[in-house]
Amino acid sequence: MAGEPQDDCLFCKIVAGQIPATIVRETETTVAFRDINPQAPTHVLVIPKAHHRDAAALAAAEPAVAADVLRETQAVAGEEKLESYRIVFNTGSGAGQTVWHAHAHVLGGRGLEWPPG
Ligand code: IMP
Repeated sequence: MAGEPQDDCLFCKIVAGQIPATIVRETETTVAFRDINPQAPTHVLVIPKAHHRDAAALAAAEPAVAADVLRETQAVAGEEKLESYRIVFNTGSGAGQTVWHAHAHVLGGRGLEWPPG
């Protein structure tokens, strides 16, 4: 069921503390942790604790939690003292999504080109 933890979901396991992660922030509805394969000096993922397969599903099912995720990306940027940064929600395999639990990438600490690849 949408929102319920999934046994085969890596990020649900991070939420449950079943696999380790470098957690930088946590709220009632979200967790933020460092990406295991950073693409920039700051590369933090912000996820809802509830399981939704992508950002579109999250926004449709729990818009208030989607707003919490967005708010937390700004909190991470502030804590990391990022002047310029990029928030990315890869949505769908064609856009590079590989983990099917909604997540926002917070990338910063270096120059970021546009358009992305
Ligand atoms: P996506 O490609 O947008 O789905 O992003 C998934 C991200 O999760 C990638 O940047 C991965 O490096 C990251 N990732 C995968 N496994 C882990 C983990 O165990 N801890 C932290 N980040 C992870």
